[in-house]
Amino acid sequence: MGEMGEEEIISSKALPMKGGDGPYSYTKNSYCQRVALDNIKEMINEAIAENLDIKHLSPISNTFCIADLGCSVGPNTFTSMNDIMEATVLKYHSEGLSSNLPEFHVFFNDHTANDFNTLFTSLPPDRQYFAAGVPGSFYIRLFPKASLHFVHSSFALHYLSKLPKEITDKNSPAYNKGKISYPTSSKEVVEAYASQFSKDFESFLNFRAEELVCGGLMVLIMTGIPDGSSRFQAIGATLDVLGYCLMDMAKMGLVSEAKVDSFNFPVYSPFRREVEELLERNRCFSVERFELVTRTRDVAATDVQAVTKHARAVTEEMIKQRFGSEIIDELYERVFQKLQEFPQFLDGIFKRSTQLFVVLKRQAMD
Ligand code: SAH
Repeated sequence: MGEMGEEEIISSKALPMKGGDGPYSYTKNSYCQRVALDNIKEMINEAIAENLDIKHLSPISNTFCIADLGCSVGPNTFTSMNDIMEATVLKYHSEGLSSNLPEFHVFFNDHTANDFNTLFTSLPPDRQYFAAGVPGSFYIRLFPKASLHFVHSSFALHYLSKLPKEITDKNSPAYNKGKISYPTSSKEVVEAYASQFSKDFESFLNFRAEELVCGGLMVLIMTGIPDGSSRFQAIGATLDVLGYCLMDMAKMGLVSEAKVDSFNFPVYSPFRREVEELLERNRCFSVERFELVTRTRDVAATDVQAVTKHARAVTEEMIKQRFGSEIIDELYERVFQKLQEFPQFLDGIFKRSTQLFVVLKRQAMD
């Protein structure tokens, strides 16, 4: 496993969602992802029915191994794993293999700092699979060679393995002063983020290619935006609003401005064509399906409180690590105020949500 670069292990800092099951936890605030996943469920069922060639799948005894990469604390991961398992069982029945059903093994992966205790204690008691936790970054090898039949990852690939160095280098043209994300930053900043995303996505594909059996499927649900659209959407917009609030607090002397300057979220939403090009370049997988799924929401009906809580569930831990817990309540109160004051921000965050839905199949190599 010499591929595991030491740099990656050191820099793959944990960016956990808020653990536990309190009011600001991911468990209680992952509803947006769940709604999107429910819409995508039918597409996953189709992918399994049409693309999973169980008769020719390299067997690993009679076990069907599934991994969820970036699973967080649930409950979304449980629903997704259950859906995948059920669709696979259906496929076995439809192929006349009812008497030969496999046992299922599900591997839940996330960073070591993820709240695995909450995950394990809330595993559905009636689950029909064996469960295991796999700690560590998915930008390195996580599993033995050819040991997985199905890889799933939702809403996790926008996290970069690390922040590009130049973003926090005062002497670089890509220095991101006064901001914590890139959507409204200089071209150099955006390019630095984009290039880190490309590198990370490529290594993600290469490591998974080693871990999947030939014919194995990989379903990726990732944030992505339509070509030519504004970058000020979804996650990017949320982080920009958070950045404005931090800068307001810096101007009032409540947080250090230098700290804001040197703090950035290693998160990036690619354009559709960026992902398409990276997939075309990869020779290990065939692209079975590639779509930008769009959902339009009624902004008027959007509850600003819910948007703020969701932003808090996914960003609080990292803000705390950097700025301390004293500022947290005030910061998110300001985010709430700002969203109420400038409802146009909600357009970027909530009006239109887009995800890339990707189905890949591991090809046999010559
Ligand atoms: N898949 C769940 C959770 C999404 S939240 C859902 O759809 O609701 C994104 C998760 O990805 C977080 O828990 C975060 O810790 C995890 N993550 C981000 N980068 C990661 C990496 N390099 N390796 C493993 N997990 C990662």
